[in-house]
Amino acid sequence: MVSTHPVEVQPSGNQYLSQRRSVTTSPNQELLPLSAKVNHHDSLEIGGCDVTTLVQQFGSPLYILDEQTLRTACQQYRDTFKQYYKGESQVLYASKAWNCLAVCAIVASEGLGIDVVSGGELYTALEAGVSPEKIYLHGNNKSRDELILAIESGCTIVVDNWYELHTLVEVADRKIGSDSLPTTPPPHHPIRIMLRLTPGIECHTHEYIRTGHLDSKFGFDPNDLEEVFAFVSKQPDLNCVGLHAHIGSQIFERQPHRDLAAVMVQWLRDAAKYNLELTELNVGGGLGIKYIESDDPPSIAEWSKAICEVVQEACAAENLPLPKLLCEPGRSLIATACVTAYTIGSAKTIPDIRTYVTIDGGMSDNPRPITYQSVYRAVVANKMSASLTETVTLAGKHCESGDILIKNAQLPKTEPGDILVVMGTGAYNYSMASNYNRLPRPAAVLVANGEANLILQRESYQDIIRQDCLPERLK
Ligand code: PLP
Repeated sequence: MVSTHPVEVQPSGNQYLSQRRSVTTSPNQELLPLSAKVNHHDSLEIGGCDVTTLVQQFGSPLYILDEQTLRTACQQYRDTFKQYYKGESQVLYASKAWNCLAVCAIVASEGLGIDVVSGGELYTALEAGVSPEKIYLHGNNKSRDELILAIESGCTIVVDNWYELHTLVEVADRKIGSDSLPTTPPPHHPIRIMLRLTPGIECHTHEYIRTGHLDSKFGFDPNDLEEVFAFVSKQPDLNCVGLHAHIGSQIFERQPHRDLAAVMVQWLRDAAKYNLELTELNVGGGLGIKYIESDDPPSIAEWSKAICEVVQEACAAENLPLPKLLCEPGRSLIATACVTAYTIGSAKTIPDIRTYVTIDGGMSDNPRPITYQSVYRAVVANKMSASLTETVTLAGKHCESGDILIKNAQLPKTEPGDILVVMGTGAYNYSMASNYNRLPRPAAVLVANGEANLILQRESYQDIIRQDCLPERLK
């Protein structure tokens, strides 16, 4: 007899692939990297590489970066700005999301510039071969040496506050003594700067990653704007080319960015009163990504189009020429491109309360859950079509009760040795990783067309003690 009841299909890890919109989708609207597949061993494959084989080869935890997803996101930003903006545009990658040589080289090869927030990030971008004309240095307390490195390399400095403005004037004037001061006049003169302003726009996002409201440590107070313009306009050593603002991160609404762009165009108009010809406008980053099923961010194209339109409308209304338009996304460029693979170890069931399943990493390779209560989804890479029959708490291995990666994760029945894959870990994971409990930082591989290349070596115990010094009298 044929049953008339529909067969109830238990969800499995495959659901994250079958929910995919299309292959031309916006990476920030997906949970898994664009190249993800399930192979005939029922294993997750990324960039044509079996994840379980990658773990055997490179160890775990392992960051696995899908080149196709990263390049697609770069191309979507770049092409949408080209398509919708009638003036010049430049997309920058906010490299704080993940700064290393390979990532800088990939985004630069797609024509993107890079924003950096420290001497270390700047040095990495330069070593990766990124052209200094496409590098912008941020930071609310840049050291004198960081400023000098930026000046000597010829990148643009996004000035954050009065202290920095005065320091720059002094450095340019070569009045201050520093061992690292160049002996010859800086090769790039006058120094190319932008001004960062706090736009006073609030976003519905986590408080600690909200930077745009007036109570922010970043940027000049817009109430000081006229004074800043007046000061900058009198500095022959500074070439102020434009304005910058950033309102926050993991934002799903388009309106705050529209409001921001409109406010910034008015500031451009105000600058003209001081004979400052500002030709660049940087609206920051902030577009969110899908970490869990209910997250529904606009696509990269929708967000970019909205920005282009509002800047054009506001400039037309103010009768201003179109500035060169810059934006600097981080998360939405790289988060979905990477997953972290872990090996499952111990488990502990507390009757009527919960089951803890432990992996071989945790808050040291992904500090976002403990810092921001961020949520993630995971699959078991070697059991992709197994039914999700268990609800478990995925715990890290750190000596910290709060080291929980995912609460109430829906997984198939797991056993030690299974490979757990956490999705959406490309942004603010490696870059915020630590050696807490003296865990060596994981390796990272770049995968494409069935090939895996190491882009970050796994740290060793020798690396862990490399900076330690043992005074003679303690030996
Ligand atoms: N620009 C600045 C100044 C930032 O502070 C940040 C992140 O906080 C970004 C860009 C990148 O933001 P997101 O990764 O949300 O795109």
